Amino acid sequence: MTLHKGAPPADRKHTPHPVNPFYGEADPVSGMETSPPRHTLPDGPLAPHVAYQFVHDELMLDGNARLNLATFVTTWMEPQAGVLMAECRDKNMIDKDEYPRTAELERRCVAMLADLWHAPGAVGCSTTGSSEACMLAGMALKRRWMRRNADRYPASARPNLVMGANVQVCWEKFCNFWEIEARQVPMQGDRFHLDADSATALCDENTIGVVAVLGSTFDGSYEPVADICAALDDLHEKKGWDIPVHVDGASGAMIAPFLDPELKWDFQLPRVASINTSGHKYGLVYPGVGWALWRDEEALPEELVFRVNYLGGDMPTFALNFSRPGAQVAAQYYTFLRLGRAGFRAVQQATRDVARSMAERIGSLGDFELLTRGDELPVFAFTTAGHITAYDVFDVSRRLKERGWLIPAYTFPPDREDLSVLRIVCRNGFSQDLADLFLSDLEELLKELREQQGPLGRPENEATAFHH
Ligand SMILES: *Cc1c(COP(=O)(O)O)cnc(C)c1O
Repeated sequence: MTLHKGAPPADRKHTPHPVNPFYGEADPVSGMETSPPRHTLPDGPLAPHVAYQFVHDELMLDGNARLNLATFVTTWMEPQAGVLMAECRDKNMIDKDEYPRTAELERRCVAMLADLWHAPGAVGCSTTGSSEACMLAGMALKRRWMRRNADRYPASARPNLVMGANVQVCWEKFCNFWEIEARQVPMQGDRFHLDADSATALCDENTIGVVAVLGSTFDGSYEPVADICAALDDLHEKKGWDIPVHVDGASGAMIAPFLDPELKWDFQLPRVASINTSGHKYGLVYPGVGWALWRDEEALPEELVFRVNYLGGDMPTFALNFSRPGAQVAAQYYTFLRLGRAGFRAVQQATRDVARSMAERIGSLGDFELLTRGDELPVFAFTTAGHITAYDVFDVSRRLKERGWLIPAYTFPPDREDLSVLRIVCRNGFSQDLADLFLSDLEELLKELREQQGPLGRPENEATAFHH
């Protein structure tokens, strides 16, 4: 979570101010004359309806989640899913013995994903999201490498992990927290993600694994997992380094099985040791749930597994957290039951159709160049065309915000820091109707932007995490 400091000095002294008399008791003038302090615990209690109103009113200023085209995370579920989640909000996922049915639903979800990703014997667990899942998968890679290299580690060898510069920030965290050297392949020209040659070029005997991303958060493209695996097979043969692949399928592992059944990216490739996905992205569940699966027990070292009580016996668990809500897991199971394969295919296809048609229409405006077209993840990135000098992508992002649309503009990582893009993430619930409204707003704005003297410049403190 954000690291917060206490209140800034100016806020430490509370200056009460009058609030809406309706918030008070039956007598409008007696109950609530002043607002409670915000940076110290109030001295006394408030009535529940009053406390509710304060919090509710403040949250009105948050953006509208449905118009947030920056996030990959689910912003709409059916009311029934909401009811189910409310029914489970008091259940703690770790209490397997107390809530054996929740534990069973988690087990079934893992089994369904194992089947979907072509390894019916896979082992896996739910997590709070892909970040936790990636930490677990990374730890398993490290532990396996440590075992193979017990004679050299820690004395003379430092483990490394190979990935593209386009990885999500969780991989930088993993490397930092677990003291692994992050070997990042920079972008080059029109190559915006990892490819087989650049990945193998960075591997050596201390490489614990290669991370292949399906698909990239920067532009929605799939990395060539099968090619990367084949190149690592070659390397194994030539040098004897047997380097496993982890597929970060935070988004794509819930898209590709339904829309790209021909694509080989999952456990069908023997070199793929583990896969993660975010249940709360294209798994279509509210945050936070993720999944981590290993091809078999060998891919997940036994000593990383902890046991908790379960129906008089014990149950193996692998997690960073201890307590965690059970509602998201119930909602994931609901979504799997509710949609089935055909339902998932229909939902994801509809989302891809919206993304592709939006990309095409934006491309035909003439002001923009598309980097991707929404035909892998339903996500596309675009930049201003060469002849556009009156404004830049940051201006477009800023002006769209005025109309309620949240579209991030950001600079690419090394070695394409010269390139700044806008990115649109289409999700279930972002309909063709909303896409039409977006396009007409964009067209209106462009008329004004084209009249600008020049770009207004990137705001100094523009949050770069906005696009993650
Ligand atoms: C979103 C994302 C993550 C992090 O997932 P969370 O579920 O937000 O923790 C990791 N990798 C990729 C490729 C992602 O898109």
